[in-house]
Amino acid sequence: MNTTNPLLGIFGGTFDPIHYGHLRTALHVQQTCQLEQVRLMPCHLPAHRASPGVSAVQRAEMVQLAIAPYPQLALEPLELRQHRPSYSAISLAQLKQQYPKHQLAFILGMDAFNQFTRWHRWQQILQLADLIVCQRPDYEQLSAESQALLVKRQLQQPQDLQQRGQGRILVLENPLLAVSASQLRAELPKLASCPEWLPSAVWNYIRQHELYTSRVTSQP
Ligand code: ATP
Repeated sequence: MNTTNPLLGIFGGTFDPIHYGHLRTALHVQQTCQLEQVRLMPCHLPAHRASPGVSAVQRAEMVQLAIAPYPQLALEPLELRQHRPSYSAISLAQLKQQYPKHQLAFILGMDAFNQFTRWHRWQQILQLADLIVCQRPDYEQLSAESQALLVKRQLQQPQDLQQRGQGRILVLENPLLAVSASQLRAELPKLASCPEWLPSAVWNYIRQHELYTSRVTSQP
């Protein structure tokens, strides 16, 4: 039976800063999986983990600038309004209430998926949403835990998401994009012009607000 509920993609991350690895992945997933929209959800970051001088509002503003040309992408500000660590299980439960007519698909890179069973209440996430796992250079291998999770849950093709359900996992064949925010944060203080991995609107914002000028990056 085909679902009558539209699919809503939720793409969580720190987006510190947003880069083309995020943006192109979100666009590819939206199109390939026929999601009504992908909502990019920057997480709350405790002060000791935040990049010095870069506020949550600024991370969100950079996301907004990056997605402005794409009506199929939107900012989800839910976790930014909170003053506690972000837990995807809690956020997805809130989003489920906010969007009762939608079926949720939580998007994450392979690096994040390989850690998934260490997340807070990860089983609850699978009761609330499907997972769409995207390939990422240097993280092509599934961990043993991830492989075990895929048994009985793995979807074979993007169209299978259109069936009603949750807790299913699609490992997507997407273009590989070798960029990370931590690599960008390390390089930004040295750069004089916009690197290929940043939308120019985000680069201009970074310059205007003098962000990432220090070589000190956020600690895990
Ligand atoms: P950092 O280097 O600081 O860890 P990041 O580049 O991984 O940052 P995040 O905001 O932590 O960015 O990532 C949010 C989500 O985007 C995660 O699920 C991550 O796996 C995914 N992601 C980030 N970069 C890429 C990329 N180049 N290709 C595919 N997925 C990516």
